[in-house]
Amino acid sequence: METVDIAIVGGGPAGLTAALYAARARARTVVLETGLPGGQIVTTDWVENYPGFPEGVSGAHIAELMRAQAEHFGAEFRIFASVESIEPVDLDFKVTNSEGETILAHAVILATGAVPKRLHVPGEAEFTGRGVSWCATCDGALFREKTVAVIGGGDAAVEEALFLTKFAARVYVIHRRDALRATKCIQERCFENDKIVMKWSRVVTEVLGESGKVVGVRLAATDGAPEEILPLDGIFIFVGVEPKSELVANLCELDAAGYVKVDPNGLTSYPGLYAAGDVTAGDLKQVITAAAGGASAAFEALRYIDERTCSIG
Ligand code: NAP
Repeated sequence: METVDIAIVGGGPAGLTAALYAARARARTVVLETGLPGGQIVTTDWVENYPGFPEGVSGAHIAELMRAQAEHFGAEFRIFASVESIEPVDLDFKVTNSEGETILAHAVILATGAVPKRLHVPGEAEFTGRGVSWCATCDGALFREKTVAVIGGGDAAVEEALFLTKFAARVYVIHRRDALRATKCIQERCFENDKIVMKWSRVVTEVLGESGKVVGVRLAATDGAPEEILPLDGIFIFVGVEPKSELVANLCELDAAGYVKVDPNGLTSYPGLYAAGDVTAGDLKQVITAAAGGASAAFEALRYIDERTCSIG
């Protein structure tokens, strides 16, 4: 079986930064990623709060730069195969992917990130890919001059609503309260945009479809107003994310919401297992915090491997 120093599971900003730090320290480093490296930022149109880019930068471009930097220092990438299990073997970990390939790693950094939450309403699953989407960057262009809605009131919902105004004739933002959670400067742009119409204090109770595609949503009011039907061509759901922590659920401690519990250096409750980025708890879910977590986790994993090597002799 192939043996490496550090296996990094997940190739978003946390995993890519961990790979850069580990590879620069001359540790044999492998990044295992289900899709193209980059994680959620690959489908983020524009990132304007990552330092060093005064005008902002596309999410895909940051991801490409991060990957190139890690590769430049010798990190290896195994992409398009999902990790199926992480099993302790003595002091090491056996990491197995969906192709049945295994790697033995002295330390593992889990950087699997988070996935978008579902609304869990009738019609949502049935019309996914037929008007229901979780990715404005991927699907926005399909809705030129159409009417779409974004569900949610956080940074993701409002930023993606603004992005969708490049294509759609009208973009409703449907939010369950009467105030947005999104960062103030994004809110300001939203309120100034003529194409965006706010639907305050409304929740989607059903996605309506005809002939295999979305035709609208049923909305219930949280402020006592009557139920209504809103005709739509597309729905983009951004109601938060949940951690992808199932791989280590039996190995280390998770919090009540399923986030991996780590100390300030990224160590989980299991020796040699580290975690960083959106799979760990923390209010600030940003490229920069994920990158910082990846750097700390790599630094600690390297120290752990060095100490282990010294004590083994
Ligand atoms: P979020 O900040 O958790 O916001 C989720 C939104 O969805 C909230 O407005 C919430 O309403 C609403 N919501 C939750 N469950 C709902 C349900 N069942 N039905 C209807 N509405 C529901 O999630 P996010 O916007 O995906 O962002 C995730 C993290 O990534 C955040 O930390 C965010 O700051 C970060 N992020 C940052 C940027 C950026 O900095 N440029 C961009 C994207 C994301 P309430 O407000 O009532 O709770």
